[in-house]
Amino acid sequence: MRVTLLGTGTSSGVPAIGCDCVVCRSDDPRDRRTRPSILIDLGEEGQRPGLSPIAAAARYILVDTATDLRAQALAYNVRRVDAIVFTHSHADHILGLDEVRRYNAMQRTAIGCYGDRATLDDLRRVFGYVFDGAPRAGGGIPRLSLFTVGGAFTLGGVEIVPVPVMHGPTPILGYRLGSFAYLTDCNHIPEPSWPLLKGVRTLVLDALRERPHSTHFSVAEAVEVAERIAPDRTYFTHISHDLPHTATCARLPAGVELAYDGLVLETD
Ligand SMILES: [Zn+2]
Ligand SMILES: [Zn+2]
Ligand SMILES: [Zn+2]
Repeated sequence: MRVTLLGTGTSSGVPAIGCDCVVCRSDDPRDRRTRPSILIDLGEEGQRPGLSPIAAAARYILVDTATDLRAQALAYNVRRVDAIVFTHSHADHILGLDEVRRYNAMQRTAIGCYGDRATLDDLRRVFGYVFDGAPRAGGGIPRLSLFTVGGAFTLGGVEIVPVPVMHGPTPILGYRLGSFAYLTDCNHIPEPSWPLLKGVRTLVLDALRERPHSTHFSVAEAVEVAERIAPDRTYFTHISHDLPHTATCARLPAGVELAYDGLVLETD
């Protein structure tokens, strides 16, 4: 399994509009952060034995449709999306939804979207034009099938385990696939979710900045979480312009570093 970090920035992106701070003006490409999203490539059918042709057809899973989806897809050559899994409905995680039209056209099919009930309700409301059923001249709307996540489910023969986390007062979903877990947008992991993270070896975790925040882990809090889960490798995401890549990585503990746009993780 291969995970591409399509975007690792906080909701405003880095550089932030109109900001002249050292990170926003940095020449280091790892200090340029688009809105948070990942693409999971489950691998070729032959590497997932025992699958029916239909099950094996699902290979590329997009997690969230970030505001920058089009730019990310062009930058990292995302040519196919078989399913979309949503963590929650904040603008930075859903506003690229309309770009899915391009995958509908190339793949000639609707695309399944998975999320909790609140997220799907928000998608129906925010993207009313997609879901209101009204006939439209030009037909320019994404074709999506919504599925409510109520527990673990399977895509492409791989089990996807939702991991409930708290994003300030809002319960949202992280996801685990095999030994990989993606926990964006959170500042608390409820007690029942810890067992779901046992044995994770590659972790992508929210760490916004040094100072505490009401809905995101700070770096110090995220390091504590990483120590408790104890993966082989931890990568922080949803990063603000407070954290320069090189200087921040230099003082993180061994096995913990900042993710960056375009980072590819091989996991099992
Ligand atoms: Zn976010
Ligand atoms: Zn800045
Ligand atoms: Zn959020």
